[in-house]
Formats: sequence, C-alpha cells, structure tokens
Amino acid sequence: MDILDIIEKSEDFKSLKQEAQQGTLAKAILLISKDNFYLDNFAKMLSMLILDGKACRKCENCQKVIASAHPDVKNYPSKDRLMVADSEDVVLESFVRPVLSDKKIFIIHGMDNALDGAQNKLLKTLEEPSKNVYLILTCQNIEKVLPTIRSRCNKVTLAKASEQDAMDLLQGDRQRAELAFAVSDGMIGRASELFTDRQFEDMCEVALSLACEMEKSSQVLTFAKRVLSFKDKAMTIVEIFLLMIEDLIKIKSDQKGLVKLKRFESELEKVSHNYSIRALCEIASLADRMVKEKYYNVSVTTILENFLLNILEVKYICR
Ligand SMILES: [Zn+2]
Repeated sequence: MDILDIIEKSEDFKSLKQEAQQGTLAKAILLISKDNFYLDNFAKMLSMLILDGKACRKCENCQKVIASAHPDVKNYPSKDRLMVADSEDVVLESFVRPVLSDKKIFIIHGMDNALDGAQNKLLKTLEEPSKNVYLILTCQNIEKVLPTIRSRCNKVTLAKASEQDAMDLLQGDRQRAELAFAVSDGMIGRASELFTDRQFEDMCEVALSLACEMEKSSQVLTFAKRVLSFKDKAMTIVEIFLLMIEDLIKIKSDQKGLVKLKRFESELEKVSHNYSIRALCEIASLADRMVKEKYYNVSVTTILENFLLNILEVKYICR
C-alpha cells in the first residue's frame, strides 16, 4: 500500500469522487490539514480525479500527474511562499488552453503562507474561473487564509488517519512504524516521512538524552548544539521530547497504559524520580509554546537555548 491507496479509501476522497461523478465538484477547493505530505498527495489524487473522473492512476493523464510532469497541472508557489507574481501567472495561465487534457488545474500549496497581495490577486479567478479551470488550494492553518478566499472555496478538512492505515502503509519494522505514528500525532504523511528518515532513530535518542541526561546549566550549550546539528529537523526533536514529557506525566500518575512511546517507557521510568509532576507540566507548556513560536519564524537557535535553560530552572524550582 502507498499513500495514494490510503487517500483513495479515505471518506474525504470518496465523497469528492461522488461529487465528481455527479458533476457537482466545486471548481475551487481548499484542502486543510496539518500534514503537508498528505496534503500534497491528496492534491495529486484530486487532480487525477478532475482529469479522468475516477483517478485511475494508470492512464496517461494520471501517470503524468503522479510523476509531477503533467503540462496542464501547474504547481505554485514557484519559491517558498506565494508572491504577487505567482498569482499573476495563475491568472494569465488560466486563459491558456490545456495541452494534453481538456482541463487546466492549478495547485496552490501553503495558502496560509501566501502574501495578502498574492491572495487578493486570485479572488477574481476563484470567483469565476474560466471554463474547465480548477483550483486546488492547500493550507495547514485556515485562520491565516483571507476570509474572502475561504468564502470562495469549498473547504475540506482532511481527517486524520487511523493507526491501522498507518501500519498498512509503513511496512517493515513494526516497532519503528508504531514509534513514527506516535510521534506524528496521527498525521500519516508525517509518520511515513519519519519512518523512512534515516535520522529518525538518532532524533529519538537525542530527545531521550534531553529528558534523561541533561542536569546542569553547563551542559546546555552541548545539548543545544547536538539538537541544532539536525538543522531543519531540530524542532522534530523538541516535539519528540514533548511526547516523552507527556509520557513521564502518565508514568508518574499511574496511567502507564496510556504511554505513547512504549519503546522508551523503561528508560523514562528510570528517570521519573528526577521530575515532579508540577515540573513536568511546566516543561510541557514550555515545549508547547516553543513549538508554536516556530510557526512565527523566531530563530530556532535563540529559542532552543532559552528553552533548555528554562527546563533546568523549572526542574530545580519545582522539585
Ligand atoms: Zn486516470
């Protein structure tokens, strides 16, 4: 099974397929999910559905979409966020005839990161797209998409996957699959990225060392360096660490059955006497705040060092 199989059998996709077959599919659809990998693949499946009416994944149109090489399916933004020039391009392109199929599809990723000006430029196209033009927009956080854009789209909030779906997708090392699913918080695309990431085990080890070995403020720089050496995955380590803290709370409050990261249960149990429940709750809220700050583009290096120092302080104050 691959991610496209999982999407095909999801309720979200089935109902869009029904709409496509009844001819009631909206021409502007906004897909919402925290899971980027899943979002991107869902947008692919939806383009295939628009092109052939069933997303067969075998015909020429579908094959080209799967290979991200269909001349009538255009992906935006051209760089990391949607700029005014991208939107102008979409508007102009929407009047150009399709080449291979009889439809033209624009997939615009990350609408929640798009500049306001770029969003505004799309309003008219969203309101009255030319004949046979479809727009698929994606976002993680709908609050950051302009209300005028939202109201012009059919909004679909994609449901999280079940653990069974994840296990069907992540074939091989079962323990690793369960760990990846637990860390991903039900986001199957994220789980599959972690599952195949060669550094996944190392990231877990570093998170575990933060929970078990960091005792003194003189160690903070060394630990910060170790976390930052994972570059753009540094925040994933903080997310794993947060799960460990939540598990420690469960261990200390006699709810071991609810522990998510079973693999590390015994190690965490050994250090649980170093933490009071109050300290753990404080650390959990610090980590949670830090993960959120990341989305406001604060420098990771700055917030990480502060975060590690705060952990020690909280541990000391709430003994
Ligand atoms: Zn097809």
